[in-house]
Amino acid sequence: MTTKTSIPTDALKQFRMRVKGDVVLPQSTNYDETRTLHNLLHDKRPAIIVQASDASDVARSIEFARAQGLEIAVRSGGHSFPGHSMNNDGLVIDISRMTNIQIDPQQRTAWAQPGALAGDFANAAQEYGLAVPFGDAESVGLGGITLGGGIGFLVRQHGLAIDHVKAVEVVTANGQIVTATATEHPDLFWALRGGGGNFGVVTGFQYDLVEVGTILGGALLLPATKEVLEGYVRVSEQAPEELTTISFVLKAPPMPFLPEESVGAMVLAIFPCYTGSIEEGQKALDPFRALATPVADVTMPMPYASIYDLTREATQPKREVVRSGFYQQFDGETMERILEFVAAAPTPFCAAQLRPLGGQMAKVDRDATAFSHRDANYLITVIAAGETAQEDGSVSDWALRFWDTIKDRRDGAYSNFLEDEGEARIRESYAAETYERLAEIKRRYDPENVFAGNQNIAPKAMSAAA
Ligand SMILES: Cc1cc2nc3c(=O)[nH]c(=O)nc-3n(C[C@H](O)[C@H](O)[C@H](O)COP(=O)(O)OP(=O)(O)OC[C@H]3O[C@@H](n4cnc5c(N)ncnc54)[C@H](O)[C@@H]3O)c2cc1C
Repeated sequence: MTTKTSIPTDALKQFRMRVKGDVVLPQSTNYDETRTLHNLLHDKRPAIIVQASDASDVARSIEFARAQGLEIAVRSGGHSFPGHSMNNDGLVIDISRMTNIQIDPQQRTAWAQPGALAGDFANAAQEYGLAVPFGDAESVGLGGITLGGGIGFLVRQHGLAIDHVKAVEVVTANGQIVTATATEHPDLFWALRGGGGNFGVVTGFQYDLVEVGTILGGALLLPATKEVLEGYVRVSEQAPEELTTISFVLKAPPMPFLPEESVGAMVLAIFPCYTGSIEEGQKALDPFRALATPVADVTMPMPYASIYDLTREATQPKREVVRSGFYQQFDGETMERILEFVAAAPTPFCAAQLRPLGGQMAKVDRDATAFSHRDANYLITVIAAGETAQEDGSVSDWALRFWDTIKDRRDGAYSNFLEDEGEARIRESYAAETYERLAEIKRRYDPENVFAGNQNIAPKAMSAAA
């Protein structure tokens, strides 16, 4: 199988000699494996995939793609919902082999390459009782999650992943390798924290680390009723900042701890992460337990990194459609629609995900980074997934009809949870002035929009800027 693009043989040969990493072509035996993304809905066929080994490989790949007129996609962990980290007939800069993680426990900092996965980072940092707040799945790459913001199990106590970024090594559109910090290229540093993959290819992040040892984690399953959801809102709003919960309304899948008669029942599955003392954590969870007789309560002390054991099964690759928004309120109308749609879900992998926010995320100044929605109280996401192509139609139809009924009450979007939903939705991820500032920085660092295969922010037109 080939793609539509043909790269001159000589140019390709020279390029292969100039890069240290492997070059994967449509005829390579590992082509299919290398182009497969986490969201199996996407079946894209790039002309060439460069498995970069360092920043100079990245710089050479950008130069080669531009010389050959090839569109560029950038892949770290490959978890882009809309499949932006692959393209058709273009060049993919694949960072997934750049996985080095160096922890400095004395300084409480770490350098990590963006191909490293959240779970690998959590395990490496856990050895010292340290962490960076990434998301809820171990298989997500540091590249994508960090550049979009990073909302996870520590968001209420420690904020977003970007709130812990101290420096970023990035290869810009002209092939320059620069380090952006609060004092060097501060505009770029600001834009990279929330502005996504628009400004260059990141080859290293320096993070500061937070102390997280044993947490109170696990799962608490309650019957999903409107009263329980109302109670969940009430007790979440009163919860201490040490407690973050990520919850799902879904039909209970078979789980080792679940009584057989409860499999398939509508539940609110609450995954807590309490970072203070276990005793205080139990007290913080009691109001949640009191909302109804639990279907199951398997909350328990665990090392922070073990929180990923709980989400591993549910986050295996599938054919997935998501729709998501920030909300100021999780109101009764939205609850009713969630209960109605989940009850009629077409596959067992369809759910509504609820993330009460606030705490430290809201305490950082809105203009400090390019992530605008600091004041959002909830992130609500429709997750629809199937295992076979035959299910695609019903899965997508369910997700879009469901979203239609709750979308009007939203107040912003999270760029990492967007699909290909158009420019208006990308703009929704940012305050108007943040978007303008990003477009101006894009003009300076990538005036030709070389990095367009993403939630794209077009460079501010030269004339408009003048
Ligand atoms: C199962 C699952 C669970 C998730 N859970 C969470 C969560 O709890 N919290 C959360 O905040 N998000 C979560 N996400 C969303 C996730 O943050 C985004 O999908 C993110 O983009 C994935 O990063 P990646 O590196 O794995 O993806 P990729 O597909 O490799 O990259 C996605 C995009 O990011 C950009 N990018 C990636 N690497 C680089 C780089 N090195 N340089 C420049 N640009 C780059 C590119 O534009 C690329 O198209 C989840 C996604 C999935 C599929």
